[in-house]
Amino acid sequence: MTQIDKIIGKGRSFSIEMFAPKTPEAEDRLVEALGEFQKLRPSFVSITYGAGGSTRDRTHSLVVDLNQNFPAPAMAHLVCSGHTRDELTEILTKYRDCGVENILALRGDPPVAGRQAHQGELDWAIDLVELAKELGEFCVAVAAHPEGHPESTSLDQDRRDLAAKLAVADFGITQFFFKASYYWDMVETLGSLGVSKPVIPGIMPITSYGSIQKMAELSGAKIPPEIISRLERCKEREQDVVELGIEIACELSQELLDQGAPGLHIFTMNLARSTREIFERLGLFTT
Ligand code: FAD
Repeated sequence: MTQIDKIIGKGRSFSIEMFAPKTPEAEDRLVEALGEFQKLRPSFVSITYGAGGSTRDRTHSLVVDLNQNFPAPAMAHLVCSGHTRDELTEILTKYRDCGVENILALRGDPPVAGRQAHQGELDWAIDLVELAKELGEFCVAVAAHPEGHPESTSLDQDRRDLAAKLAVADFGITQFFFKASYYWDMVETLGSLGVSKPVIPGIMPITSYGSIQKMAELSGAKIPPEIISRLERCKEREQDVVELGIEIACELSQELLDQGAPGLHIFTMNLARSTREIFERLGLFTT
């Protein structure tokens, strides 16, 4: 298996994020999508972790299975929220013993969307990065928020917290955003804080007008007015929204790559079409 920071160190990485399915039907859809994803030859894949540990076993099984059977390394997301330190130690030890070397360390949110303090024994993602590093030779990634995390007291404080987290982690992946300038402002500030670890832009292809508005509200991402007007013009037809989502994701991805971004991480929602189109239209194949 390969530590992902070694892949990123060799050149641009094009990766995809999936979630562990809950039902047999969702599992069938993922198997079908995986066939498509495999053809795209992503640099690595990552598997989300349900708030408060709700997908603990499913995430573990899928990551271990992909690491054995998918031709790219699979990274396990893990969150502090809802877990004691001992539980996190047990989860990380099990990953280490199964040969999983890549972890995305997150704070997580409360299981019910809301903005109360999350309940977990470790307070911040940086504590989980440190725990993982203590327990094994993991490559540990962290989340970055180009527009600032919604709970941050200020953008400056958010950047300082991110810089501290990246100083102990190996690389970052951003929350989704719709303007390249948000990403480059973050990278520039990190540089001024002495951090040069790679941060890969996270790209969310819009597939539904309603759900992107909800996700943007939760994550603190602003949807620019010009994107809202384009969506307004086609929102009645689902297929047109998907097509427009692909166009918007391609425009942003191309701009980021032209400006020197170290790669792209696509949030697939386990749907192959938008991700396949983005890879094909931009020629993102790595070998
Ligand atoms: P942190 O880095 O802990 O930061 C959270 C907030 O605390 C920020 O405002 C930060 O400025 C502040 N902070 C940090 N350190 C300190 C400190 N020492 N003192 C005071 N304040 C501090 N969630 C899931 O539940 N499952 C997933 O699989 C998942 N995957 C994700 C993948 C990506 C690429 C991204 C970008 C996010 C993902 N999330 C996931 C969401 C994430 O859990 C939330 O955004 C969460 O609210 C914050 O996580 P974090 O790791 O950025 O937290």
